[in-house]
Amino acid sequence: MRTSRQRKWVGIIVTAVMLALLVAPTAVTAQEEPTLTNATSDDLLKVDILFVGAHPDDDSTATATMARYVFDRGAKAAVVTATKGEGGGNATGRELGPALGIVREAEERMAMRMLGIDLVYYLNELDWAFTTSATATELFWGYEEPLGNIVRLYRVLKPDVVVTMNPSPSGHGHHQYIAKLATEAFFLAGDPNAFPEQLEEEFIDPWQPKKLYYALAYGAAGLAPSVEIPTNEYSPSQFATYAELEAIALRRYRSQGFDAGYSVPPPARRLSPETFTLAASVLPIPEVESDLLAGLTSGVDLAPANVELEVLPAAFYVSQGGEVAVDVVFRNFGDTDLMDLSLSLGAPDGWTVSDASAPVDAPVGETVSATFTVGGAGGRRRDRLPDNRRALRRGGRRRRCAVRQQARAAPGHPAGLD
Ligand SMILES: [Zn+2]
Repeated sequence: MRTSRQRKWVGIIVTAVMLALLVAPTAVTAQEEPTLTNATSDDLLKVDILFVGAHPDDDSTATATMARYVFDRGAKAAVVTATKGEGGGNATGRELGPALGIVREAEERMAMRMLGIDLVYYLNELDWAFTTSATATELFWGYEEPLGNIVRLYRVLKPDVVVTMNPSPSGHGHHQYIAKLATEAFFLAGDPNAFPEQLEEEFIDPWQPKKLYYALAYGAAGLAPSVEIPTNEYSPSQFATYAELEAIALRRYRSQGFDAGYSVPPPARRLSPETFTLAASVLPIPEVESDLLAGLTSGVDLAPANVELEVLPAAFYVSQGGEVAVDVVFRNFGDTDLMDLSLSLGAPDGWTVSDASAPVDAPVGETVSATFTVGGAGGRRRDRLPDNRRALRRGGRRRRCAVRQQARAAPGHPAGLD
């Protein structure tokens, strides 16, 4: 590599034109070897949004929303589908059963690719028939195995937001049951005691998704939407509305007749917002929601510059009505002494938190801390998911007992599933 001293010397004695000629080949040789980076599986797989459905075309309940987040918010999305839809109809050929499953898997992969989604996984459960019963679906699919498979995918893909279907007892039983499994997996994936063999034998870590939404496009069944995502807005990167992007993708589901149903431009009935309801969250819940990704960085955004705030619960779970100690550690990395600080901890309604700390000083470079006692809520969210709770009680009796009796210890988390 030529040194900069060489270049300066050349610059003194030759004209600007000559210098340009000399610098050009220098720039090429200066690149030398490519630099190695420490790539991890997170670089390949870490997703922001994970959709969990039962059949290959179930992602149509959130297609326009995923297009918005992937194309224009820089989000990475993935899709998990329980079956390959081999029990459905076929509008394009004579394939039935497993052969139809091959067709429908191809359609889903093509549709998702139109949205920039390359990560599509299948649980390989059987699309055995149309049923309105989640319990009957459990008889065919089982409980532990599909639940463990979803937990594994949460732990490997590390989604911040999980979107699944409506588990309420209406509509297709496969939809209800996959939503129930996706919900239970939400509460188990972060627990090292759940499916511990995945940690011990597959060397993966627990992962807690931050928010869980139910897509209501196939029927709300008593659940009120908590957030609506418009579809009739233009994508600034794709120069089309999200409804058009949705239609272009979903027309790939030709075996299901979607090429006839999703015309471009979309008819007025396809321009209504996609609706979701927040089913669970480990983040503070705003009064009004307008964004599935809201709150994921709020803690960072609100922190002053050059300070670090750590909140450390003594336990991951706390039983309803129980208490847990929470340490709050504050470090001042700035260049200004921060004096007379008071540390306090906020929690959602229904939780109790001990009083703010006495005034403390945090000069430059110092760390201060306080310990709070946090009391778990006693079923505050009973009014939020009445239908879901009924659905959850119908099947899957083993692990859920443990889940129901647990509430989150982490501040900012509402009471658990029950
Ligand atoms: Zn379906």
